[in-house]
Amino acid sequence: MKEVLFIVAFLIGSISIYAQQLSKKGPHEGDIFSLDDFHIEMVKEIYRCLLHPEIVREKNDICIKDGAKLERDKKIEFYLLNEDFKELELSNLEGRVRIVFKDGTATSKKIRIDNNVIWIPLSNNGHNEFQQAIVKIKLNDEKYTATFGHPIIHKGHHH
Ligand SMILES: [Zn+2]
Repeated sequence: MKEVLFIVAFLIGSISIYAQQLSKKGPHEGDIFSLDDFHIEMVKEIYRCLLHPEIVREKNDICIKDGAKLERDKKIEFYLLNEDFKELELSNLEGRVRIVFKDGTATSKKIRIDNNVIWIPLSNNGHNEFQQAIVKIKLNDEKYTATFGHPIIHKGHHH
């Protein structure tokens, strides 16, 4: 009986919560997934105001505060948001992001956290060849997985 209990506890401890994609866009115009208690937003292309770093958009746009042109930043950013889509305080958070490229190759990067924003670096070429981001995070001993983007569709060979 003790062994059975141990196995049950082990299974519960290793459960991952898988995300459901929401139809609406997030506050930074990125794709957004629900992870039970909170949401995660991915901003793949970062355009940021040099004077207002909090103004982040996925499109090449102008700053809503001063009308300045937003500058491109070579990153993918992720935001954890509460039910009201406000940014959560990030503590006890760790994880990795696996980026799958259009040709089927992949790279895995440890997440970095600066000013309450999760990010990984990605080159211009990486942005252009981006296919999917599989985000695995551990927060307060719970594991979460969110898959952004679409799986690769294998096409027939050309001759
Ligand atoms: Zn600005």
